Amino acid sequence: MAPVLLVTGGSRGIGAACCLQAAARGWDVAVNYTRDAAAAGRVATAVRAAGRRALTVQADVADEAQVLAMFARVDAELGRLQGLVNNAGVVDRPQRVDEMDMARWRRQFDINVIGSMLCAREAVRRMSTRHGGRGGAIVNLSSVAVRLGSAGQYVDYAAAKAAIETFTLGLGRELAAEGVRVNAVRPGIIDTEIHASGGLPDRARELAPLIPMQRPGTADEVAAAVLWLLSGESSYATGSVVDVTGGR
Ligand code: NAP
Repeated sequence: MAPVLLVTGGSRGIGAACCLQAAARGWDVAVNYTRDAAAAGRVATAVRAAGRRALTVQADVADEAQVLAMFARVDAELGRLQGLVNNAGVVDRPQRVDEMDMARWRRQFDINVIGSMLCAREAVRRMSTRHGGRGGAIVNLSSVAVRLGSAGQYVDYAAAKAAIETFTLGLGRELAAEGVRVNAVRPGIIDTEIHASGGLPDRARELAPLIPMQRPGTADEVAAAVLWLLSGESSYATGSVVDVTGGR
């Protein structure tokens, strides 16, 4: 049986690239999304075209009941989970901290932090040898914002991603003797739709001069690091964070 991977936010951007590269490397893939069923369906079609099984599953990662139902569907339709990519994440429009409200902070932390923790918990219950599992790998999406702070734009997002990095370190150590590796990728400016969703559609192009490589990265360049961390090639890496930032 092929190993089974769940990618949250797999309908576009970095998540979609992870799904496609995973299929090419022999994973069966569950493609999670919230709004865009058609986009998730296109990713699933591409996974199947690569000869692998695919499932699209709608769930808001910040909603516990929806996350439980999502994992139950993956169990029932694809089988035993061996990989999780905690990719679903959101930014918000640029604001200073003294302009932000509670609703924004709740959304940032509910989706970017609690969502990843909920999915990780469910994955651990299936993968850890402590729970009768046969091991696996979890990869979390952080951001170079953790090192830069995102002043004047998304300090809350940067702080949420910092929480993800500490979660990665702690969970990696907690599971190190239980067959589950936990790592993170820290992308720099990547050319996806996330910038438009925060009201800055040209952000990736405009920031290019600030990047040592003078260009934004691609979703595929981030996915390649994610797939390495999912694979046996990274068998001695856990609790670590890999920068994919063009030198930034
Ligand atoms: P994106 O193009 O905006 O795609 C986000 C994906 O997440 C979509 O598939 C979306 O699905 C899904 N999603 C959003 N909210 C969700 C929720 N509550 N539950 C489940 N799925 C949800 O983003 P991206 O640029 O590929 O970013 C992917 C990850 O990399 C994020 O964690 C982001 O913070 C991180 N990152 C990105 C960059 C960058 O420059 N792009 C840099 C550093 C870190 P629907 O469309 O169906 O809602």
